[in-house]
Amino acid sequence: MSNPSLLILAGDGIGPEVMAEVRKIIDWFSKNRGLAFDVSEDLVGGAAYDAHGTPLTDETMQRAQESDAILLGAVGGPKYDVLDFNLKPERGLLRLRKEMDLYANLRPAQCFDALAEFSSLKTEVVGGLDIMIVRELTSGVYFGEPRGIHKEGNERVGINTQRYTESEIARVARSAFELARKRDNRVCSMEKANVMESGVLWRDVVTEVHAAEYSDVELSHMYADAGAMQLTRWPKQFDVIVTDNLFGDLLSDLAAMLTGSLGMLPSASLGAPMANGRPKALYEPVHGSAPDIAGQGKANPIACILSFAMALRYSFDQGAEADRLETAVNAVLADGLRTADLMGPNDGTPVATAAMGDAIAAKLDASL
Ligand code: NAD
Repeated sequence: MSNPSLLILAGDGIGPEVMAEVRKIIDWFSKNRGLAFDVSEDLVGGAAYDAHGTPLTDETMQRAQESDAILLGAVGGPKYDVLDFNLKPERGLLRLRKEMDLYANLRPAQCFDALAEFSSLKTEVVGGLDIMIVRELTSGVYFGEPRGIHKEGNERVGINTQRYTESEIARVARSAFELARKRDNRVCSMEKANVMESGVLWRDVVTEVHAAEYSDVELSHMYADAGAMQLTRWPKQFDVIVTDNLFGDLLSDLAAMLTGSLGMLPSASLGAPMANGRPKALYEPVHGSAPDIAGQGKANPIACILSFAMALRYSFDQGAEADRLETAVNAVLADGLRTADLMGPNDGTPVATAAMGDAIAAKLDASL
């Protein structure tokens, strides 16, 4: 049987720098844990525009469709601000998400012990936190019709429409239940069924999918506004939260920032299962291309490395190896190693991007 395929799209700015550290980690797992991937690299964003005049070629799109998982660095930069809308680097990423129909956006909020002090919440509230927000990404109020701004009498009216079909709700609910089975086996679904019909349907469909296919998973429901309060009051009560596009946009940002810096936050976007049973999947750090620090060895590679840990867990069924990698990251932080984004101005000397990658690889060595 051939090895699973991994397509690396490093992109722009700090993308290639952080991805170089991920390559070290991929090589480590191949050499030491027998996890061999067929790794290939291609261009996306400004880098693809510079080479081919488009932020994503049809050939790269085709390779992405055929890959078992994609790992993306970041796209964008001031050099490309003048381009037409359709040629901008971000369009390459949006095309990937759209054509692969990546409808479930996974944003973990995980608190590494050594960074608990970075949170705006008390250490005992966030210490050891490990929750996952699953946001529906391809429908809802950001896409529903009718939409627009028109004139009614003497004033303008702005309209957006919240619209969900049963199948759109059912498929993202399945993603959440599948994830929960690989975690603490609990899902909390959030909507506003008290004031929105789309929320009533959301609650009904999630309940039906649960009863028919996932009754082994614990399911609860919460209104999204109460969910926001509970996330800041006692976030550790949750395991997986599933919610729609708009509420997920807000709740995932809120949950992620409970735990600290942008340089630490991974994400995944998953679609329907492929013929081999793996979901279509794109893994990427939450941060952008950080042009202000690009090329200086200052970028924190941890968000991108943790995105690979998510790939191990959710695309390749290697939960124990994902744990090993996350434990190595935690150990490096516990030793006091920090890239500049994790330090104050008087906190000593930061380590460079490559040194952080090397230190994580060394902790992996120590785990054997
Ligand atoms: P950004 O995330 O690139 O940077 C925001 C701030 O966080 C900057 O000060 C940056 O130095 C810092 N930062 C980000 N990642 C870091 C890391 N790994 N280590 C250390 N510090 C880090 O957001 P921005 O400045 O608003 O956008 C810059 C470019 O990135 C724009 O062109 C934007 O369109 C693009 N962008 C791309 C994505 C993506 O590829 N998914 C996401 C957001 C922004």
